[in-house]
Amino acid sequence: LSHAAADALSAATSATVEEPTMPQPTCLVWFKSDLRVRDNPALYAATTFEPGTANINSGMKQIRVGGSATTAAASASNLPVIALFLINVAEWALHDMAPLRADFILRNLECLKHELAQLHIPLIVRVVEPDDAANHIEDRHHPVAAPTAVLEVARRVHARHVFFNREFEVDETRRDKATQHMLEADGRTVHTFQDQCVMDPGSVRTKEGKVYKVYSMFRTTWITHVVRDRMWDKLTPDPRPNPKGACGAGSAVAAYLARWSEVPTQLAGDVLRVDPAQAILARTHFPAGEAEAHARLATFLADRSPMYTTHRDLVAQAGTSSLSPYLSSGILTTRQALHAAMRANNGRIEGGSAGLAKWISELVWREFYRHILVAFPHVCKHQPFKPEYKNVPWLNDPLAFDAWTRGRTGYPIVDAGMRQLNTLGWMHNRCRMITAMFLTKHLLHDWRRGEHYFMQHLIDGDFANNNGGWQWSASSGVDPQPYFRIFNPLLQSQKCDPDGTYIRHWVPELTHLHGKALHNPHAELPAAEFARLGYPTPIVDHKFARQRCLKAFKTALGKM
Ligand code: FAD
Repeated sequence: LSHAAADALSAATSATVEEPTMPQPTCLVWFKSDLRVRDNPALYAATTFEPGTANINSGMKQIRVGGSATTAAASASNLPVIALFLINVAEWALHDMAPLRADFILRNLECLKHELAQLHIPLIVRVVEPDDAANHIEDRHHPVAAPTAVLEVARRVHARHVFFNREFEVDETRRDKATQHMLEADGRTVHTFQDQCVMDPGSVRTKEGKVYKVYSMFRTTWITHVVRDRMWDKLTPDPRPNPKGACGAGSAVAAYLARWSEVPTQLAGDVLRVDPAQAILARTHFPAGEAEAHARLATFLADRSPMYTTHRDLVAQAGTSSLSPYLSSGILTTRQALHAAMRANNGRIEGGSAGLAKWISELVWREFYRHILVAFPHVCKHQPFKPEYKNVPWLNDPLAFDAWTRGRTGYPIVDAGMRQLNTLGWMHNRCRMITAMFLTKHLLHDWRRGEHYFMQHLIDGDFANNNGGWQWSASSGVDPQPYFRIFNPLLQSQKCDPDGTYIRHWVPELTHLHGKALHNPHAELPAAEFARLGYPTPIVDHKFARQRCLKAFKTALGKM
């Protein structure tokens, strides 16, 4: 990080604010996957927190009718609020974060910093050193935690109260708890919140109090709760600004804030280094910022949602919202997306626009996979949801895996999907299903390799959704259906890319082909013509692969 700019900022800040006589106690908000100021329970609670008031640990249930903003200034008894973000490269790499996603986070962090500056809230950005053993908790193989870094910052800025939104994955939960214990042992209070789901994980249950394992049943009960309790309308009010100069510029705290105010544009080391050409493309396709996420949401709801049911599986169309990177990094919440969709649908889920109802169902998938993750944490350790699927005799042929990753399987729709992923860091949902099923069912490759590969490349990489999607495709997860869920990639290709626009775009060797030849060039073209394409022959025959897969699953489940 350059400190020249920090010194300049420090001097500028010192010039405008008075030196306090006593260290001013503050509230610290630790941002993680919630890079936004709106609908942010932890931030809102910090900005409205008055010492001596009731404990607010249980979470927020504030109602904002019509989404109107709350702009009132903090009262005299509010403590100044300071924001913190930790860049923990070791943790990000351990969790397979894609370089494009890291870049997206840094870009959004810069936007967050500006949004917070409008509220006079300074943002501290600390890079956690990978070799800092003090930051590792319990298990040296999982350097996921940075509780000491939070504690150090809390001490430096005299934060008596620390606020954050919880994350649900096993490592993250452990890190959050360790951080909380360390802060509390140091005499600070910790206030945590649930911001990731519309319905709290664990709150949607059967009449017998059991966790749902089937999506359709979960969805029915989820909708009942959400409509009955108007959960979709319960957005968190906007945070209140700090009084100007609240952070005691000219003091040691102000100098510290200035020293750590810079957001790096790229990370040191090679692990998360982003390819410059890819970064430019990703910046065009997925610009940063809350304003961008809300503009996307509004455009989708107004222009594309009416056709969502018919266009959502057409891979060449911009038929879906492409909001996933914003939802995954918390630039936008599921609740905000749901709120906007419900308002567009006159407060209904069903009975209004079919497109909106279907889109809301996709948001429910997102909720469902988070509820599953919390109720069955073994999936976080990449275990199959159903233990009996441990026994599938995967072939794990490294050459086949390599061909799949490079988009060289000889199945144009599979190759187009993989090349879209490799180039853009994003893949259409239908192609995610086709490519994942091809790897696991046609190539009989362990789904975990594919899960890791996706995570290492997706700009919207999201553990719950990715794990859920892979286990669904590999039939090892909830509602597995191994004997029915084997896509025929050639039929899928004709259905989801009928005129071949998507394939022609992503597989340039086939650009001049049309009709059946484009979807299945090896079978449809004369041998000499096919040879001239420079395109691979199919890596495996579909019918043969299907039979082999059924046999493998029957063996694993003891049905042979
Ligand atoms: P839209 O169709 O506009 O849907 C709106 C939102 O609903 C999405 O942004 C997403 O948050 C949620 N959603 C949609 N479909 C699903 C689904 N099947 N499961 C869970 N949530 C859903 N999604 C991720 O966000 N991150 C991932 O890492 C991820 N990995 C996946 C891996 C596999 C193998 C599969 C089959 C699916 C995966 N998905 C993942 C789900 C889905 O493919 C993407 O969310 C979707 O393609 C994003 O495009 P969109 O925003 O235009 O979606």
